[in-house]
Amino acid sequence: MYVDVLCEIGAKAVDNIFEYRVPKDIEGNIKIGIRVSIPFGKMILEGFVINIKNSSNYDKDKIKDITSVIDKEPVLNKEMLELGKYMSDNLLCSKVSAYQVMLPKALKAKAGTDIKIKYNRYLRRIKSIEEIDDYIKNCKYEGQINLLCKLKEGDILISKMSSTINTIIKHGLGVVVEVEEKRYNYTGLSNYKKVTLSREQEDVKNKIVSSFGKSETFLLYGVTGSGKTEVYMSVIEEALKEGKEAIMLVPEISLTPQIVGKFISRFGDIISVFHSKLSDNERYDEYRKITEGKSKIIIGTRSAIFVPFNNLGVIIIDEEHTSSYKQESHPRYNAKDIAIWRSNYHKCPVVMGSATPSLESFARAGNKVYTLLTLSKRPGSSTLPSVQIVDMKEEVKKNNFILSSILKDKIKEKLDRHEQVILLLNRRGYSSIITCKDCGHTEKCSKCDISYTYHKTSNNLKCHYCGTSKPLINKCSKCGSTNIKDYGIGTEKLEEELHKLYEARVVRMDIDTTSKKGEHERIIDAFGGGEYDILIGTQMIAKGLDFPRVTLVGVVSADATLSTPDFRASENTFQLLSQVSGRAGRSESKGEVIIQTYNPDHYSIILSKNHDYLSFYREEMKMRKLLKYSPYYYLVVVGISSKDYDLVFKESNKIASFLNKNLNGESIVLGPSMASMFRVNNIFHYQIIIKYRKDDNLIKCLKFIDDMYKKNNKIEVELDFNPIKM
Ligand code: ADP
Ligand code: ZN
Ligand code: ZN
Repeated sequence: MYVDVLCEIGAKAVDNIFEYRVPKDIEGNIKIGIRVSIPFGKMILEGFVINIKNSSNYDKDKIKDITSVIDKEPVLNKEMLELGKYMSDNLLCSKVSAYQVMLPKALKAKAGTDIKIKYNRYLRRIKSIEEIDDYIKNCKYEGQINLLCKLKEGDILISKMSSTINTIIKHGLGVVVEVEEKRYNYTGLSNYKKVTLSREQEDVKNKIVSSFGKSETFLLYGVTGSGKTEVYMSVIEEALKEGKEAIMLVPEISLTPQIVGKFISRFGDIISVFHSKLSDNERYDEYRKITEGKSKIIIGTRSAIFVPFNNLGVIIIDEEHTSSYKQESHPRYNAKDIAIWRSNYHKCPVVMGSATPSLESFARAGNKVYTLLTLSKRPGSSTLPSVQIVDMKEEVKKNNFILSSILKDKIKEKLDRHEQVILLLNRRGYSSIITCKDCGHTEKCSKCDISYTYHKTSNNLKCHYCGTSKPLINKCSKCGSTNIKDYGIGTEKLEEELHKLYEARVVRMDIDTTSKKGEHERIIDAFGGGEYDILIGTQMIAKGLDFPRVTLVGVVSADATLSTPDFRASENTFQLLSQVSGRAGRSESKGEVIIQTYNPDHYSIILSKNHDYLSFYREEMKMRKLLKYSPYYYLVVVGISSKDYDLVFKESNKIASFLNKNLNGESIVLGPSMASMFRVNNIFHYQIIIKYRKDDNLIKCLKFIDDMYKKNNKIEVELDFNPIKM
């Protein structure tokens, strides 16, 4: 017997397939989709068995035996193997990288991982209670009696063996058993109560449920707080009743512990959870719960879309407009595309929900590619908050650089009434730019060519791209002047300002305060429990939070998002402002939102004030059409990077002229141009943007380029289909 083994060697993501012979005595253990160890040069590697055959074309004297079989059961099932092929054909990624991304680290084909199942030892009773009682009557030793009394109640966790335990075992009263330990525990919400769906919610649910057994994609457009989560849960409940499983994707789970809490309260222990803060061990435990059939629902971030459920009933993608569903490294897949592929495979519906759907999805709903469902109002008495826009150009004249007069007054008013306030500032750190007033020099990261951000808490300058930091010296590094000024405000400076103005309990939530595991949850719980008056944070506070006592939300600067060099800047601004506005007034008390900006006339800001998604959609679609962007055109970004500046420049031009010659006449090739992050960590980045509607030559041309540069170790070419971040 011979096998084809697919493995990953070196840093470049290339499919290497090698033939090996299977020793007779382990032939019975070979299945497609298991991992095997193989000798490769002087190394032992791991790879996936992707083909089994009776003969080999390879030289009989040179072919080697596989070293050993790693898995009893395949880690890649038939569906995963097919999905890997689809990804490779459509994203031009390697199959091996597709398979690796589907699996938790413990099951990837990579030598040297030591992620193991953790076992605990328990002492377990094997005699009846009466027999134990009889024994106790005749026993003189207090230690034994105590232990036996406990044993009557249930298993006892053993940290180390003792003579008492040994005696109990010797007398045949108990045995030691090993039980897998689950390394992660979630708790439900103590105050969760199942609601009765409104007519509107009920209609939406019924439409989705009636498409069970079919592949159909729904776009659920429902204003914030309209009860989408309740609809998702009811739909999942129906899928479970049919004996099926459900995948629920959320943008970032640690941001939405409330969602997990609701699910646990309603569905109990049949849930697995995936998010970025799980350790590899914990992730393996959650995954095994699925492969062992103990989980029926997974709630998770992007990669949860791959979990090997065999009988999928529904896939739900909450906040579908979020950029985090796209992976920004090889393989650059979008979980939404994978969801639709799996929905075809399993014949089940996909539900994408959002209060501010991405333009692409809403356009597809308009073309009837997706089925549009709408939740137009909030259940009960809660209403959408009123929004006020403040022109900061006027405020600066009054020396209000951080907070406008009106926002200051409103905060005071809410604090006096013991209500809570959320302030959003999409820029972490203390100030964004440190500039010398004498020579104009700005301190920049020497590896990335990006301005440092000053962090006052650590008194450091930090590069937000490569993470390098250096201490702040109160001297210009160019001319030596001490006349240094910091411009721009970050969350740290805002926090300081609040302490100057108010006697309030303030908590800050950004990457810097939540890098430790569990910190998100702690801050959210503490704020929800009333330990703080004001929560300030970056966009991570905008989503998924549900605090009834928050009556004021202030956006300190709407311009941080609006000014990013990305064709989606307006869309992102509209989404962010709409989301954050949805955080205010979620219960009976009316909410207020104040948006500070230097661009008060921008349509994304005015229309978010009016909660007017449809007008925003129409306005933005006009721009996209005019500028030939998605959803009117598809985009591919060809990223070219190298340590060698001359080389990257030369090769980028070569690629661009190749594309210009070979793509069909309607496709547009832009560039090469410097990427917006041109130099990161001393690597130079160029990009070519291709805009196309239909081009039969495209995949062929890109594959040609990709294959050519795969062999070149000096230069990296990355293809990004339908990029989310430019
Ligand atoms: P969304 O996901 O659309 O933002 P949620 O599902 O979180 O909205 O619902 C917002 C709030 O309204 C939650 O507190 C939820 O419990 C409540 N809610 C949702 N549906 C109903 C209903 N039918 N009756 C009463 N309360 C509801
Ligand atoms: Zn840097
Ligand atoms: Zn200077």
